[in-house]
Amino acid sequence: MKVDLHCHSTFSDGVLAPAQLAARAHANGVQVWALTDHDELSGLAEARSIAEATGIRFIPGVEISVTWAKQTVHILGLAIDELDTELNAGLAEIRKGRLLRAREMADRLTALGIPDSYEGALKFAANPLLISRTHFARFLVENGYCKNMQMVFDKYLGENKPANVPVHWSTLEDAVGWILGAGGRAVIAHPGRYAYSPMQFDALFEQFKDIGGEAIEVITGSHTLEQYVEYAGVARRYGFMASCGSDFHSPKEARIDLGNLPPLPSDLTPVWHDWI
Ligand code: AMP
Ligand code: MN
Ligand code: MN
Ligand code: MN
Repeated sequence: MKVDLHCHSTFSDGVLAPAQLAARAHANGVQVWALTDHDELSGLAEARSIAEATGIRFIPGVEISVTWAKQTVHILGLAIDELDTELNAGLAEIRKGRLLRAREMADRLTALGIPDSYEGALKFAANPLLISRTHFARFLVENGYCKNMQMVFDKYLGENKPANVPVHWSTLEDAVGWILGAGGRAVIAHPGRYAYSPMQFDALFEQFKDIGGEAIEVITGSHTLEQYVEYAGVARRYGFMASCGSDFHSPKEARIDLGNLPPLPSDLTPVWHDWI
């Protein structure tokens, strides 16, 4: 069974429209597919209609930006009701700060010798309300300031780098609450990407479980082979279901194409086990 429960369209920081993603998922043999734009649900209707026309089982999703212990954590909401009022209101609130933050990032980049990045990044953002660090990174790469996206984050935009502007996104409780309220399942995205201490990780997993979080991503484009094993262990230890998703943003940038993921360890319960 080919399953991919994490990717991005032009409604957030992906470069393909939802319809193009659905077609690519179909071409790659994906059978169960979720679109999970950052803090945004507007791409789901188009994604569903094309996906279902090709026989894909479509799972409506979202990737919510959360601040936990002063760092950003991404929580996926899967199989959500995208019409849910509180979820929509919560996401609208999160989106509000992005344009202002983008201005401040641009000011910092100007001070570092990189002018005009606000206008530059906006050109890459089909949905300006969802302007993100990814759009700035594309501008920096296209204009020769950095060789690739990773180098942009390592040098300028990663956590604690000079042009990163810390944001207070939503709280973990709010994000999980909105997801559960919308009938969905909450999943910690790419846990291997966070710079927490072992004690902080334990606290995050405990709190997430206490408030109704049910799953973590084990297989994702952001994890190394070692991290597949490590987070399979975390899923066992905490009794989390396991999810898998490419986190596909762009054909040029992807380490893993849509649907091209290794299988989950067979003893773990897939997050989609009761959806198909
Ligand atoms: P934002 O929501 O504006 O803070 O931007 C976060 C996005 O930046 C993530 O969703 C990724 O798409 C991208 N990103 C974060 N870290 C990296 C990295 N090290 N390399 C490439 N892309 C990254
Ligand atoms: Mn992204
Ligand atoms: Mn993410
Ligand atoms: Mn993502």
